[in-house]
Amino acid sequence: MSSGGRTATLPVMPEGHTLHRIARRHRDLFAGREVEAWSPQGRFSAEAAVLDGHRMEDVAAYGKHLFYRWDDAPTLYVHLGLVGKFRTWSRRQPPPPTSGTRLAMRADGATTYLAGPMACRLVAPEEEAEIVDSLGPDPIQSRRGRREFHRRLDAKRGPIAAALLDQGVVAGIGNVYRAELLFLLGIHPDTPAASLTPEQVDDLWDLTVDELRLGVEHGRIITVRPQEMGTRGRTDLDGDERLYVYHRDGLPCRRCGSVVRMKDIAGRKTWWCPSCQPEGE
Ligand SMILES: [Zn+2]
Repeated sequence: MSSGGRTATLPVMPEGHTLHRIARRHRDLFAGREVEAWSPQGRFSAEAAVLDGHRMEDVAAYGKHLFYRWDDAPTLYVHLGLVGKFRTWSRRQPPPPTSGTRLAMRADGATTYLAGPMACRLVAPEEEAEIVDSLGPDPIQSRRGRREFHRRLDAKRGPIAAALLDQGVVAGIGNVYRAELLFLLGIHPDTPAASLTPEQVDDLWDLTVDELRLGVEHGRIITVRPQEMGTRGRTDLDGDERLYVYHRDGLPCRRCGSVVRMKDIAGRKTWWCPSCQPEGE
């Protein structure tokens, strides 16, 4: 079986780039319009009735969190978690919602169904502010989070690979990006976060901004430099050529041929190349 096949079968929690793409699509389809809202599953009926018929003003993504704002109704807050999913149709008649559809929204011929979210509720402005305040800077939303990233990372004990999954340090990085960012910078995942030099932290922030923004553009995570694979563009890469180390344990490193390793850090598996990311450097 190819590594690409293995990657495709993993349940992968959506990372920041996915949420920003959902926000962009929903903004295009629903913002400025009066939206019909209902709960096919019934578990969100009372809240959907509060939103039904209101004009959606905006959709904002912050890290892995989504906020839908309305002309005269509380903000709808959504976190997809590991299995939550939106299915969206821009013009075509959608199929009937499944029995698990928590929320359906429709406007001007566009429809979206939300199923299986970790969080879906109406929030007051204070709670929205609390959620955002608990998060580190979102590199997709603004490049200006560098100082805040330094401050929050400096306060962390433990390995950098754990700190990068902490949404209070930086918002939007998940398991794929953390493994790939550390590979690209040659940093061993066990390196204590506090031992990184200011230059390394700067580089980590800049690379995070660049890679997550490319993820929004492509709609998928592609970290491999195309020239290393002998192709011209990132989108020429096959599915299993897109990543350097993520889920590639036992396979040769794309750069040096050493065998890629895997271990648990912060309760999730991570992958690294022992030669490109030597320990203690
Ligand atoms: Zn290597």
